[in-house]
Amino acid sequence: MIGALLAIGVLYTFGAGAARGVNAYLASKYNRPSPPIQPPPPEPSFPGVVSKEKPWLFGKEGEYEKYSNGCNISTKYETDNHPRAYYAIPRGSETDGNQFSEKSDKIVGILYHTPENYMFPLTPDNSGKIQNGSRGLIELVRNHKKYNYLINRIGDIYRIVRDDQAANHAGDSLWADAKNYYVLLNESFIGVCFESKFDGASSLDQILTEAQIISGRRLTDVLRAKYNIDDANCTTHGLVAVAPEEMLIARHHDWVHFFPFEAMGLSNKYKVQPPTITDYGFTYNDEVLAKKLGGKLWEGAAMAVEEFNRRAARAHVSPDDLRLKLRDRYLAQRNKTFGLHAEQGDVNNPRVSKNPAAGESTESGADQSTSAAWKALTEK
Ligand SMILES: [Zn+2]
Repeated sequence: MIGALLAIGVLYTFGAGAARGVNAYLASKYNRPSPPIQPPPPEPSFPGVVSKEKPWLFGKEGEYEKYSNGCNISTKYETDNHPRAYYAIPRGSETDGNQFSEKSDKIVGILYHTPENYMFPLTPDNSGKIQNGSRGLIELVRNHKKYNYLINRIGDIYRIVRDDQAANHAGDSLWADAKNYYVLLNESFIGVCFESKFDGASSLDQILTEAQIISGRRLTDVLRAKYNIDDANCTTHGLVAVAPEEMLIARHHDWVHFFPFEAMGLSNKYKVQPPTITDYGFTYNDEVLAKKLGGKLWEGAAMAVEEFNRRAARAHVSPDDLRLKLRDRYLAQRNKTFGLHAEQGDVNNPRVSKNPAAGESTESGADQSTSAAWKALTEK
């Protein structure tokens, strides 16, 4: 089923892909910068069943919100964290890191994750263990205030951290739409996590169930309608996470490939040049390439590396010199966002410490690797 959906997506993207190829060729031929992120329009992946109406809240029933597109959200485990607050940074700002627009608390995007929990095979005899695993994951996510939403393996959708509150999902991170850059995406993006394991998978159907894909699509449509979220700002953790100390991409690498953008009604962000590379100069090394990216840069990232090198050449500086300057810019912007939260006087807010790892849980692997402890817990 997933294979069939993707095959349809591929058919739909072929025409648009050829047009973008021509544009990239012209841009490189005339040595002009490629245009800022302008992803192609979303492509239909469920032809014939895509609703033309935006979903709306149809009603509430017990601990569920029910939406007109069939999206049911459990509110049973809802919790809060801290109110959203960030600065949008206009694109094209210079590198002093000081050009911000108004402080905002609006939700501008969706960031998709995997939690890297232990996965029992989805078979009838494992139902009990799978349910225990999901309950444990909900508890963990709730305790760490880690994501706004969690979609379990049979497609149940749970709201954990309330929408108007920042969850601790993104860490050091950066993305942009046609208008603005956003740093520290906890503040401006909603975190949606699919209960799954990304590391070690070699295809989408090893990561998500069909039920998760259907629920992910419905939740995406609900959130986009509710907050008027631009397709350009629906992306994955692996494409936005950075390590500013070393200027490396993919600090977390969940969904650096295989994310079913088309099935979510979204344009394919693997074809978009990530602003982390084009505009801020984040880069990769052999270790990142081998251990996190599966030996290959995604298509947009490969184009972005060339674009950044051309940009440095036009400015008559080495890529590394430009990178250092842009690192200061990222750090200044990040610290200004931290400052917003220091003003709240919340002494318990770990991000006030300006520790780069603060604002997210201790993690390893693709996202948070809890495998050993996890298995022990769920096998009780
Ligand atoms: Zn993640």
